[in-house]
Amino acid sequence: MHKIQNYINGKLIAPVGGEYLDNIEPGTGKVYSLIPDSTEQDIALAVSAAKNAFESWGGKPKEYRSQIMMRVASLIEERLPELAAAESRDNGKPLKLATHVDIPRARDNFHFFATGILHYASESHEMEGLAINYTTRHPLGVVGCISPWNLPLYLFTWKIAPALAAGNCVVAKPSEVTPYTAYLLSQICIDAGMPAGVLNIVHGLGHKVGEAISQSNDIKAISFTGGTATGAHIASVAAPKFKKLSLELGGKNPNIIFADCDFEDTLKTTILSSFANQGQICLCGSRIFIERPIYEKFRDAFVEKVRKMKVSNPEDPDAKLGAVVSKPHMEKVLSYVELAKEEGGTILTGGHRVLLDGEYAEGFYLAPTIIEGLAYTCRTNQEEIFGPVVTITPFDTEEEVLMMANSVEYGLAATIWTQDLKRAHRVAGKVEAGIVWINCWLVRDLRTPFGGMKNSGVGREGGFEALKFFTEAKNVCIKF
Ligand code: NDP
Repeated sequence: MHKIQNYINGKLIAPVGGEYLDNIEPGTGKVYSLIPDSTEQDIALAVSAAKNAFESWGGKPKEYRSQIMMRVASLIEERLPELAAAESRDNGKPLKLATHVDIPRARDNFHFFATGILHYASESHEMEGLAINYTTRHPLGVVGCISPWNLPLYLFTWKIAPALAAGNCVVAKPSEVTPYTAYLLSQICIDAGMPAGVLNIVHGLGHKVGEAISQSNDIKAISFTGGTATGAHIASVAAPKFKKLSLELGGKNPNIIFADCDFEDTLKTTILSSFANQGQICLCGSRIFIERPIYEKFRDAFVEKVRKMKVSNPEDPDAKLGAVVSKPHMEKVLSYVELAKEEGGTILTGGHRVLLDGEYAEGFYLAPTIIEGLAYTCRTNQEEIFGPVVTITPFDTEEEVLMMANSVEYGLAATIWTQDLKRAHRVAGKVEAGIVWINCWLVRDLRTPFGGMKNSGVGREGGFEALKFFTEAKNVCIKF
């Protein structure tokens, strides 16, 4: 069975303790490779390699770093089919999605920040007749990047690329549930001529490897994407050490659909925003609010179309949904369906496991699920489920829908569907979310600030925000 290796100091190596964990393929439910069960000893090696590499990498002209990163982007492009197949196998997502979304985006992340750093200018502030200030920005040193399993290489590179571009050296941990494409990225970095120690990828469990990253006194900043509870724990460990923190956490996003929306467009996009990647995208809308005059028409059309969505093995080109990421996650999602029933909800479609044949018989497949009749305050409508489960709720007024939309502890993203421009702006202004889409969903410009309000996170990623996070400002004031 293939053993994934850590990438430390430019080399692929076994974990110090020699222990490995099973890596399970969600589509079949079977173990198909082994991943290092690393410990703080492996993190210590990675941190030491990163510290040694920092002076050279951080001190090199940005054009040099940019060139190496552009090579990484080109190699991701060259190996796209292999990376997409690996991502789909490791995560359970349809191959089509990995081919058209995940891996191209990983390539774009490297490309974007490799070029972005070339345009990142210093600022100056003149005080007429008195002095001039100039502000320079400097890499932090060694930084930690910790990412989740839902968009494995996509989110991993979204952190690593700006950190490297800004001149930092990185110790990174992908999710233990989906390690494979991060492993392939290590090979790509070697092929691209990334100097030893600049990027180190250590595989293993959150409470061992992730914890050691949070604890390390030599790691100056942590960029984390994952659950809110994990984010709170990392902050409790890292904040007293005065590490910079960027936390991208959970969501419970509202889709607000007014009666004057473009019905067909809203319906088509709502199906995607509900069930893309089996509903395991932090930006998926899981609470769908529909204005009363079109509630029944929308509900019936939505249910009819969702019933026809094909749940199939990830390689099936017609699969609209593949497998969810793991057995525990499947069980968690199903437990929320049971909770919804207890809370008085009606399952309009789905609500059960889907059993496929042959080699996929033990895979973790779930039917896309729509629930109605729940109070907006119940647990099903307040807690993050992170699977192919949505609730639908009618509303009568703008005030009422905003009250329900804003009633959760999260504030990551929202969609608003209306042809009334004034209302769109008004509702966008009042909805508590860091990212608002009007008449669209998941349209992403990498220059825009990305992140959530409330318990959905602290800080923003994307564009120059990310480069700011991964650098320290120094202001110099000169008297005229
Ligand atoms: P987790 O919080 O469980 O894990 C995220 C990462 O943190 C994993 O690599 C995990 O390792 C690691 N980790 C776990 N415990 C610790 C610890 N004590 N110290 C340091 N690191 C630790 O999230 P999931 O992987 O389950 O991802 C799903 C969550 O991510 C959802 O809540 C989702 O909303 C959120 N998310 C947020 C996004 C955003 O941009 N706001 C985008 C995508 C997802 P291991 O895998 O080994 O447990």
